[in-house]
Amino acid sequence: MSSEKELRLAMLTAVAQTISRHAEELTQLDQAIGDGDHGINMKRGFDAVMADSAGLVEKPWPEFLKGVGMTLVMKVGGASGPLFGTLFMTLGKELPGNPCAGDVAGALEAAIQAVQARGKSEAGQKTMLDVLVPVAAQLRKDALALTDLVTVAAAAAEATGPMKAIRGRASFLGDRSIGHVDPGARSSALMVAAVVGAVKGES
Ligand code: ADP
Ligand code: MG
Repeated sequence: MSSEKELRLAMLTAVAQTISRHAEELTQLDQAIGDGDHGINMKRGFDAVMADSAGLVEKPWPEFLKGVGMTLVMKVGGASGPLFGTLFMTLGKELPGNPCAGDVAGALEAAIQAVQARGKSEAGQKTMLDVLVPVAAQLRKDALALTDLVTVAAAAAEATGPMKAIRGRASFLGDRSIGHVDPGARSSALMVAAVVGAVKGES
């Protein structure tokens, strides 16, 4: 197996595993400030991606990422499906066929813009963007400091706790959304940790 193909498979497997292992936790976070389906939505999406993984990892990075994104749009549902789907599809559109570490920040910045356009949202509103935006900033600062990426993502997810939700279902709660970590922010941080783990060769 080519090393690039192995890396795609390792990344996909790591993300799907972490979502599956944390599905209950994600569901509980969404029970507190949403409708309690985020864990099950995300697990359904990544189970579908894994069912297709043999074919997906054969494709070069752009087509691989677009394929992951399209499956997420179709299978995750809810608000987060189209948003995570847009994130992965735009990453696929933006990255070159043979990406290097230095290409990732720009691609993620473009993908964040696409999510923002789709969600009519921005950082500071207690959503996945509150993790994705600082992760992109950290990548821009130092694309090779992988451990820092995980730390930044985890801290950013925690930092959504005291925020008041302005977008998504949680915004219906107004001030009562304060004091709970945002489920999409948590799943984003889990995905960042999984991708970094795969790049570092952890299993
Ligand atoms: P739903 O809210 O439809 O039940 P999920 O529970 O799967 O969908 O996902 C909820 C998550 O989606 C939230 O925690 C938040 O991170 C994210 N989200 C919701 N709306 C938006 C938006 N407009 N922009 C960015 N992220 C959003
Ligand atoms: Mg939900």
